[in-house]
Amino acid sequence: MLFKQKGILFVLSGPSGVGKGTVRKALFKKNTSLKYSTSMTTRPMRPGEQEGVDYFYRSKEAFEQMIENNQLLEHAEYVGNYYGTPREYVEQQLEEGNDVFLEIEVQGALQVKVNFPEGVFIFLSPPSLEELKNRIVSRGTETESLVINRLNAAKEEIDMMDAYDYVVVNDRVDHAVENIQAIVKSEHCKRERVASEYKKILEVSQS
Ligand code: 5GP
Repeated sequence: MLFKQKGILFVLSGPSGVGKGTVRKALFKKNTSLKYSTSMTTRPMRPGEQEGVDYFYRSKEAFEQMIENNQLLEHAEYVGNYYGTPREYVEQQLEEGNDVFLEIEVQGALQVKVNFPEGVFIFLSPPSLEELKNRIVSRGTETESLVINRLNAAKEEIDMMDAYDYVVVNDRVDHAVENIQAIVKSEHCKRERVASEYKKILEVSQS
């Protein structure tokens, strides 16, 4: 191999309570070549969780030191605790040609987008949004106040989608996992990526 192709950064995010953690765990139970970036948090460990597997559990002081040293790719405060992505692991894996997968909340995903615009951003959407769409489409003249209220709540989530490349509906965990795997495959077949690899080979072989 004359040169090493860089890995692709995949970011799974979406509204709180949509099931990001469940989908991510199901994805990693499959035989995947993706490297999961374990996050750092200041929240207490829950029963059944393990240091270094579910999270790196750190004190608030240690976390703030990491922020200060620019050792986090992104971080966010969520329900009174810090969550963040250690930078070194992600950069090293990408450099070595491995695909990296992050599962983070939306503020963090937006920060990653600033630093890694070439990343692939996947929005996990609640099935309630899809149900709402179906109800309105099938009835046409839906005017119930309940639907109006739900529409207003849904608007915020739909606005959030704008920053993403793909939307995966979490109607069933296995469906969501299949769709994410399909996205990973498609991204590797993207003309821009494939062509730039060939161009690099040509440059190297002609130099
Ligand atoms: P939990 O405390 O339930 O494990 O996670 C709470 C939220 O934090 C979830 O939405 C999860 O996706 C998000 N999260 C986990 N790790 C990170 C991270 O490194 N950065 C950010 N911004 N959010 C994270």
